[in-house]
Amino acid sequence: MGSIKKQEQDHLAAYRDRIIYPILIIGAICLAPLFLNSFIEKRFGGGFATLIVAVSFVVDALALRAGKRPPVPYPFLVLPMALAMGVSLATQGFYGALWAYPVAIACFFVLSQRMANLAAALLLVSGAVMVYRFVELGMALRFTASFGMTIGIANCILSVITRLQKELRDQAITDPLTGTYNRRHMDACLAKFAEHESDRAGTASLLLIDVDHFKRINDQLGHASGDHVLVEISNLIRNSIRKSDQLFRVGGEEFLLLLPGTRIEHSMVVAENIRAAIENAVWLDNYPPVTISIGVSQSQVNDLTQDWLKAADHALYQAKISGRNRVVCAAA
Ligand code: GH3
Ligand code: MG
Ligand code: MG
Repeated sequence: MGSIKKQEQDHLAAYRDRIIYPILIIGAICLAPLFLNSFIEKRFGGGFATLIVAVSFVVDALALRAGKRPPVPYPFLVLPMALAMGVSLATQGFYGALWAYPVAIACFFVLSQRMANLAAALLLVSGAVMVYRFVELGMALRFTASFGMTIGIANCILSVITRLQKELRDQAITDPLTGTYNRRHMDACLAKFAEHESDRAGTASLLLIDVDHFKRINDQLGHASGDHVLVEISNLIRNSIRKSDQLFRVGGEEFLLLLPGTRIEHSMVVAENIRAAIENAVWLDNYPPVTISIGVSQSQVNDLTQDWLKAADHALYQAKISGRNRVVCAAA
């Protein structure tokens, strides 16, 4: 649960490996001539520091390529980079500070945004102090201003990427007409639910909801009126459920409502309230009330979600053949 919550806050978490792999390869290639040059010029401190960074990049890249967990945790990749920057500052003066820029950018893709800002702030302060200590105040001020600007731009870019990624994800799981979740998301949610709750019988219920004689609305009043009814029905249901309940549009005029932590007796009450509210709503002029039929089923011990759905579907069928505009509970 904790990791799911963490992933929701850190929107790039699921893509981190794919982002990091090319960064590691490019980083290792760029560092190779530098540590070779350092060894040739007998600057062993800088040479070893750069070599450690390059080796940790290569080790992680090889692991990612093989589909394994990278042995050097990503936050630890930043440490040798900072170390190499410090050595470079001490031995080469201002040139060392130049490494702060790619290191900071890498942080924003390797770490969560909050951790990246923390790492960047540490680099800013330590870099400025070292430039002041090893070079001079004017350079330290220029470094602070330009590096601060780099951090700001990195934050802007990351925020845009994160927002776009969230928009794309929302689009992928939402039904465009009603704004409810779509069938694809239903499959994912039920699978996740089954994974977490397989041993808790009777703690959740499914309501399969189908509009009665919906085709007549389309035929007599037009497709736009049919769409209007679907939007109103989904709004009404959404406004009457808890935050933890989830509504999916699973077919043309068919919805599925997942009620976690809800026993069958209470689910029947919820279903009956929704049925009555829809029957009493007036959405179409000069047309009989729109009604729905609902099949209700509760989760069973080690139930497969397919069986759970099938039970609700069967109950819905019973509701239809016994006259529509009613709620039927699946036999346990
Ligand atoms: P029943 O009471 O047995 O459920 O009858 P019904 O007419 O509701 O069911 P049927 O399956 O015969 O018809 C469903 C209709 O829903 C057929 C289809 O054209 C229409 N439909 C499917 N998707 C949409 C949509 O997005 N908008 C509109 N307006 N109609 C849709
Ligand atoms: Mg129908
Ligand atoms: Mg139907």
